[in-house]
Amino acid sequence: MKLSFHGAASCVTGSCHLLDIDGFRILVDCGLFQGPDEIFSSNVKPFGFDPESISVVLLTHAHLDHCGRLPFLVRQGFRGPVVATAPTRYLAEIVLWDAAHLQEERASGAGGYKKGGRLSRFSGAGGRKGKKGGFYSVADVLDTMSLFARPAEYEIPVNLAPGIDATYYNAGHILGSASIQITVTRPGKKTRILFSGDLGPETHPLLSPSSPPQDSDYVVMETTYGDRLHRSFESSKDELLGVINDTYRRGGQVLIPTFALERAQDLLYFFREWRDEGRLPGKLPFFLDSPMAINVTHIYERFPDLLDDRLKNLFDKGRDPFMFPELRLTRSVPESRSIAEASSRSVILAGSGMVSGGRILYHLSREIENPRSSLVFVGFQAEGTLGRSILEGEKTVRLMGSEKTVRIGLHSINGFSAHADQRDLLGWCRPMNRPEGVFLIHGEHRSLWAFRDKLATIGWNKIQIPALHETVDLPERPVGRRHIDPSEGP
Ligand SMILES: [Zn+2]
Repeated sequence: MKLSFHGAASCVTGSCHLLDIDGFRILVDCGLFQGPDEIFSSNVKPFGFDPESISVVLLTHAHLDHCGRLPFLVRQGFRGPVVATAPTRYLAEIVLWDAAHLQEERASGAGGYKKGGRLSRFSGAGGRKGKKGGFYSVADVLDTMSLFARPAEYEIPVNLAPGIDATYYNAGHILGSASIQITVTRPGKKTRILFSGDLGPETHPLLSPSSPPQDSDYVVMETTYGDRLHRSFESSKDELLGVINDTYRRGGQVLIPTFALERAQDLLYFFREWRDEGRLPGKLPFFLDSPMAINVTHIYERFPDLLDDRLKNLFDKGRDPFMFPELRLTRSVPESRSIAEASSRSVILAGSGMVSGGRILYHLSREIENPRSSLVFVGFQAEGTLGRSILEGEKTVRLMGSEKTVRIGLHSINGFSAHADQRDLLGWCRPMNRPEGVFLIHGEHRSLWAFRDKLATIGWNKIQIPALHETVDLPERPVGRRHIDPSEGP
């Protein structure tokens, strides 16, 4: 049995891991490399394996850095199947459509990317020269979606081949997210390999916490925030509520560049909660001005059983935890353009999350010179994006074709991460029996090494940090070996 790492090895994007079991080849995730040009250009490099040789793809969740290269795999000859939970399948469809459209927009020179900027979600892709559509198109996404097999359910094994099963466990990261354990059963041998996928924080606003299996022989684990602790979630919520109320008093608008998947739903849930508790000004209008975020929210509404008990109880009482009377969902462009006329005071959620395109540009061009209004960043702003430039104090920016002076109030609230921090990651490991081998992935250098040291404190050793395209042998494990209790120490 061989395991190789073709993405998110010593970096945080492009998750792609290949488990070869005597020629049956399982790909766990097929994510997009995201970042500056030199990283993004990796998307059109060879995968490091023959796409046609892959027997099955298992998806941990629908974030682009875990599923975004799947249509390219299909274009290169992969013919399926793809196994994912039902929400991951629906969310991946939305995410991949958006990705393909952005590539087509980019190829045709449209879109609102930062002029001269080194990074947008899709800048720098070395698509097929002269061919509209970047390195995959909407047609490739259609082909990809036809390969999805019957959805996996949490904790019910899916048989992939004789003696090979995959079991999905809640990872508490985004709706439908999973850690996947692959079990290989041979005469006298049973080997379990657990892929963590991205893990959620212990206290997630919308989802119940992760629940990994107790026993695995090998663990492949993410370490995105393996070296740090997040700011308190509650204090971030209080800060956001404060900004909304202060801006209302000043008579301005609150603009929130929003990631469509997960962050937008978190915010809608908070707004609804605050509104029910009477903590918001009277008739303050809210706008979700993003067709993609609206679609994603409807997917969340389809799976109440996968949400946290507080949300489930609201659904049981006939309440939608994301909707309230002052919220308007604006799908069309004319609706979006009419928001400014609706009220001088409002809260507007619009994409893109890093102000690298989308409707937020229009709203920002109207409000950026208005000191009574507020621009609130609630997510990471990557280098090279307009969001990052504004956050770093750029005094003038070019928006919708004209130079603007930044006078709007700026706020950055970073406690809303859907990722586990160092404490949460250790908490995920602690209930498990010590595995035979651990592979740390999906982290920057500092994070990987810091978390490696942390794992030693709970007795986990035999830890490897693989390089990109590195292959390791996984010896199969004899049945009935004594499990080592973590309390026994190393
Ligand atoms: Zn993720």
